[in-house]
Amino acid sequence: MSKTRLAHVVLGGCEGCYVSLLDAHEDIVALLESVELVYSPLVEETEMQKCDVVLVEGAVTTAHDVEALREARQKADTLVGVGSCAVLGGIGGLRNLYGRDEVISAVYGDEERPGDGLPGLTKRVRPLSDIVKVDINVPGCAPKTETLLSALDAAIAGEEWEMPRRNMCEECKREKKALLQHSAEFVSDSVYGLMELDQIDPERCFLEQGLICMGPMTREGCGARCTEANVPCRGCQGPSRLDFEQGAKMVDALAAVLPAGGIMYLDDLIGTGYRFSMPVSVFPSVVSEGDDEDV
Ligand code: SF4
Ligand code: SF4
Ligand code: SF4
Repeated sequence: MSKTRLAHVVLGGCEGCYVSLLDAHEDIVALLESVELVYSPLVEETEMQKCDVVLVEGAVTTAHDVEALREARQKADTLVGVGSCAVLGGIGGLRNLYGRDEVISAVYGDEERPGDGLPGLTKRVRPLSDIVKVDINVPGCAPKTETLLSALDAAIAGEEWEMPRRNMCEECKREKKALLQHSAEFVSDSVYGLMELDQIDPERCFLEQGLICMGPMTREGCGARCTEANVPCRGCQGPSRLDFEQGAKMVDALAAVLPAGGIMYLDDLIGTGYRFSMPVSVFPSVVSEGDDEDV
């Protein structure tokens, strides 16, 4: 039986999704019995051929990313967007709050600009689906290894794979009492930064302790791994429905349970509510003067 031809393309991201795949350890050996890795940062091949499945991680951030993504789409029977950068624009999407020139100046200063030959930045960070059709989306920063493998198995088998639909609180095992009761009282009288509390109860819902947790407006599917590790969810799987405004919906959700909607996330409403989903939000991107490219 011929092997599935698999490619892995990396666009604008940190390559952490790649590490998540490598974390499969011996399962990768089993995978390679049915899969031939024909194009990836791990193989020498420099030109992508026609493939059955192409995994694409990272967001579209440069003109080179646009080209590489269009080529991947053209060569792939099934295109899988891997990670929150690919699916939502991801954490780098916060650059959409600034104009392209502002970002370049902040990084390089006004004197020294990146030289010729470097791919130009797109005027805003975009998820893959803004440019091409994506067959399977696997959110998470980075996606849980088991989740990624299950999506990859589906892609190889030519089956559909759907993201989980409930929110993180359904998956989280922390005890929630006040949160589930209809009450005129807030679940906590105060809102705290993570470092302000001497002790955090490892069994109890963070919101009930006055700590901001993005669980109510975040898609489940990671095993609630942060809350298991006594850290509030930061929302990396994105909103439980792609058409939900993650940050705005969170203000709405918190209004009923914490004072002033979580004291507006303790001064970082955008960075907390839209940390991973700014490019799929309704916020318009800031565009630098003279920007005229369509990407
Ligand atoms: S989704 Fe997260 S882990 Fe994956 S490339 Fe983007 S920043 Fe890195
Ligand atoms: S708000 Fe956070 S800690 Fe509380 S149940 Fe939801 S995910 Fe768990
Ligand atoms: S708990 Fe939240 S921040 Fe942590 S991995 Fe899951 S979705 Fe991402």
